[in-house]
Amino acid sequence: MFCHDFQVVLQEVPGEISLCFSISGCPLRCEGCHSPFLWKEGNGIRLTSEYFQKRLDQYTGFASCVLFMGGEWHPGTLVERLIHARQQGYRTCLYTGADQIPPEILEHLTYIKTGKWDKDLGGLGCKTTNQIFREVGTNRVLNHLFIRN
Ligand code: SF4
Repeated sequence: MFCHDFQVVLQEVPGEISLCFSISGCPLRCEGCHSPFLWKEGNGIRLTSEYFQKRLDQYTGFASCVLFMGGEWHPGTLVERLIHARQQGYRTCLYTGADQIPPEILEHLTYIKTGKWDKDLGGLGCKTTNQIFREVGTNRVLNHLFIRN
């Protein structure tokens, strides 16, 4: 699994400071994709367990959540990293363009965003969006937290 970039983000998961890993090799090819550099498998650095551990250690006590932008196409490694993050006390989130992901990934997530990018419908900040952000444990849809008044 390769990570194109790593950032600390504040808005993608409401109420959380998230360590965001953008994973390359996205197979979904959404029309108008805002991140086509994520399409090519192998772009970026290898997201080894050691590299991941360093990032988790670096932000312990500051960040609260680990967010994967994609990566479900590497289910074994993704699940390993999610378990690792939870063991270190982080909540977990996956942004996927798919409508569903396998239960063996879902069970390790606190939050999930599903649905392809559709420029006519807009993202989570739009009431018309096809995308859904929910808390996995309760199945509660939290899209309203992205809508600005
Ligand atoms: S899921 Fe995201 S990265 Fe993948 S093609 Fe769609 S918009 Fe681009």
